[in-house]
Amino acid sequence: MAMIEVERLTKKYRDRVAIDALSFTIGEGKIVGFLGPNGAGKSTTMKILTGFMPATEGKARVAGFDVFEKPLEAKRQIGYLPETPPLYPELTVRGFLHFVAEIKGVPRKQVKSEIDRVAQGTGVTTELDRLNSALSKGYRQRVGIAQALIGNPKLLILDEPTEGLDPRQRNEVLQLIKGLAGQHTVVLSTHILAEVKTICEQVLIIHRGKIVADDTMAAISGGKENGLEEKFISLTAN
Ligand code: ADP
Repeated sequence: MAMIEVERLTKKYRDRVAIDALSFTIGEGKIVGFLGPNGAGKSTTMKILTGFMPATEGKARVAGFDVFEKPLEAKRQIGYLPETPPLYPELTVRGFLHFVAEIKGVPRKQVKSEIDRVAQGTGVTTELDRLNSALSKGYRQRVGIAQALIGNPKLLILDEPTEGLDPRQRNEVLQLIKGLAGQHTVVLSTHILAEVKTICEQVLIIHRGKIVADDTMAAISGGKENGLEEKFISLTAN
């Protein structure tokens, strides 16, 4: 089954076309790299899929639910890590995850076990009673992923999840994301091509609001060490 189906999706901000009749499909259980230069339309696409913003035209379905006609059902299928996750600094990690669980409608009796589950899955169990404001950047990003996992959504949309991390933290977060595939479909937006090469099976490249590549990692790189970099540069040249 397709986890995401996008058909001729268009978004205009006044007269600026941010995304232009995008169409693509993402299958269940895949890790997909969503790439493009700054201003290409990645965030706009993610905001529409996650129900933060309406489209000007076109259709989008998540796990079969139309995001415009069935927004609540569609949202329930999605865990979203925005570029700057809103971690309330005055809350403890546990308090924050509790708050997210309530918002997502996790049944009261299951909240504690759900917090334990996502904390374990993201390696933040030892940090549960610390204040968000006291966390290292690497832990903050893990907590961002933990909140996306609350409610066990089928689809995770992660917007630059390794931004601002040092190489070790970056690698840890990537391995964590890799481990989530299979149980979840993961869309990873990043401009770091090496990360995409490490964990993604499918690659979508967007440029000036249009899809310029949609293929498996192996096909895009053509088996060459620098194949992805070369493709990216040539497809987004002007
Ligand atoms: P990306 O995430 O790939 O960097 P965006 O989706 O943020 O790209 O932006 C796509 C285009 O839409 C850019 O030209 C950007 O300037 C424009 N844009 C994004 N958000 C707005 C907005 N709120 N108002 C007007 N233009 C916007």
